[in-house]
Amino acid sequence: MKYVCVDCQQQYVSFRYECTCHGMLDIRHDFSEIDGDFLKDRFNSRLSERMGPYASGVWRYKELIFPEVDESHIVSKYEGNTGLYQHESIARYAGVRNVWLKAQSENPSGSFKDNGMTVALTHGKSLGYTRFTCSSTGNTSSSLAMYAALAQAHSYVFVPNKNISLNKVLQTLAFGAHIFSFDGTYDDGITFLEQHSEELGLYICNSINPFRIEGQKSIVYEIAHMLNWNLPEWIVVPGGALSNVSALGKGLSDLYTLGFIDKLPRVVVVQAEGTSPFYNMIVNNSPQLEAELEPYTVASALNIGNPPSWRKAKRTLEETNGIAIAVTDEEILNAKAIIDASGIGCEPASAATIAGVKKLVAQYVIDKDESIACILTGNMLKDTDVLRNYHLERQMPYSNSLIHAELSVATVFEAMRK
Ligand SMILES: *Cc1c(COP(=O)(O)O)cnc(C)c1O
Ligand SMILES: [Zn+2]
Repeated sequence: MKYVCVDCQQQYVSFRYECTCHGMLDIRHDFSEIDGDFLKDRFNSRLSERMGPYASGVWRYKELIFPEVDESHIVSKYEGNTGLYQHESIARYAGVRNVWLKAQSENPSGSFKDNGMTVALTHGKSLGYTRFTCSSTGNTSSSLAMYAALAQAHSYVFVPNKNISLNKVLQTLAFGAHIFSFDGTYDDGITFLEQHSEELGLYICNSINPFRIEGQKSIVYEIAHMLNWNLPEWIVVPGGALSNVSALGKGLSDLYTLGFIDKLPRVVVVQAEGTSPFYNMIVNNSPQLEAELEPYTVASALNIGNPPSWRKAKRTLEETNGIAIAVTDEEILNAKAIIDASGIGCEPASAATIAGVKKLVAQYVIDKDESIACILTGNMLKDTDVLRNYHLERQMPYSNSLIHAELSVATVFEAMRK
């Protein structure tokens, strides 16, 4: 395993967070000795494991993620192993026939951050760290706090004091993290950690850490595995810090290199209009990303103005003939209401995927007969303020409201007639 700079291609053999040129690092494994068929059989045989690291939907694919690590260091909570669903009302809403939803919302802390965090924490632990840190809009901190608690380690997390979901902060607190609630943005927190984590003896678990990306690759491995190594024509993810789309691209490239798939799906990144610096860069064909200084969207997980992984994300779009799109908060909230009412459910950021598909179908970019997988990144209870606002405080197209009634047969019959 080596670390390669995505900017200047400089290579390193030992771990560091960034290149001397400040570029991000990519982990590169040597897959030349791998026998694809043998590995597929091994992955299949692990599907019957009920206990231990290989029962995890991440560590099942250890050979492609972190082959060197000793099993004794692995901190896992059976993450991954999430459902892949179809639902008629979601397909109808988006205007397509065949859309899959990969519910990363079913992860142990309620978001896909667990896929990456189990690997980052395991790596930090294998280096002897006992103190872990991140800057977060909430889900990274919940995930880190959970794994640190499981490992009997300490977490010190930096969460902006506005535009975040209280549920996420409470979950992080309850898992026992030390939370620094600061006046600034996610991006300010990242800058602080890049400058000071070393003197503080803290291991950084943000997605600048390439082990997070390795773990998140398992999402696309799982989708492919569940569909018997046949991927849909499109894969759609929301984009905040852009770690997930970067991991998706890397995972696809692994599967292609190993011959597990013979065609790359096209990747779509969906940003929220209130902070869409990556989308702007792509549509304007700019060589550099221009940060959004005042990011605001109702989808708190996407409230990031200066996404660190933009180069890796751009590479994913280039390699997969992918596209970027932006959707409004209203489009996000309505798509979320449809996904919630389907029984699957997700947090606002995740619903940007279906909102994005709907828009691309309307623009004739996606054909109604093409197959699609959307990654639902977080759980519907991650943001109950948004739920209350949509259903109880505003009149929105898909609001559901309480029926204030006396207990009587007549009122029930009346509700049934509607
Ligand atoms: C982190 C997160 C995102 C954004 O993912 P990035 O890797 O930061 O682009 C989207 N949705 C949810 C629920 C998240 O927690
Ligand atoms: Zn470099």
